[in-house]
Amino acid sequence: MPYGFSFDISRISKSFFKELARVATEKNIHRKMGERARNLAEKFRVHQITGLDVSDALMLVEDFVDIYARNLSEREKFLETKKRALFLPHCSRKYMDNRCQARFDPEIPSYQCAQCSPDCLVNQATTLGKERQYDVYVLAGSSCVLKILKNHSYEGVVGVACSQELMMGGNYIGKNSLRGQAVPLTKNGCANTWFSMENLKRTL
Ligand code: SF4
Ligand code: SF4
Repeated sequence: MPYGFSFDISRISKSFFKELARVATEKNIHRKMGERARNLAEKFRVHQITGLDVSDALMLVEDFVDIYARNLSEREKFLETKKRALFLPHCSRKYMDNRCQARFDPEIPSYQCAQCSPDCLVNQATTLGKERQYDVYVLAGSSCVLKILKNHSYEGVVGVACSQELMMGGNYIGKNSLRGQAVPLTKNGCANTWFSMENLKRTL
């Protein structure tokens, strides 16, 4: 970080992420895997597909390795947690203007989806989270996280956000026994962003 902020990795081969997870399982190498991250970035044409320059693409790959490695190392303890929250990003709402009927409650602080559009990713993820007994929050920014965590004694959280926010959010994990899992956005840019519902389902 920081790399050019608007990019779309949805077209990168799924094998890239599998390979990333495999590499990340090789304990303690993910922080010093510069050459291997470079090879992966080249092999999967990350900079051509995202439009990021080569060094930014490499940083993006390194952040993803960190995120996947943390997910793997947290997974066992996360599965033992009972009281859980799901944090969704407001940028994945179908509408970012007043066509979105969600009400923002500053006291929580969170948007509350009014389910105006069945094809809205935040709507679908909210339903999925509630079905799995998660408290669901649609966050306007990472500053909301601290207040929510202070007011509730969650044992586990699943955060959906861009890699930059997830890297910062990682600081909360491990504190007060909080365990976490992360689902990175596959399309960045603070509006009309996207994440994989399949990945979210697996993670929850
Ligand atoms: S479905 Fe919910 S989050 Fe999506 S646009 Fe409508 S109110 Fe907003
Ligand atoms: S892209 Fe990242 S920083 Fe921007 S609104 Fe979404 S989660 Fe927040």
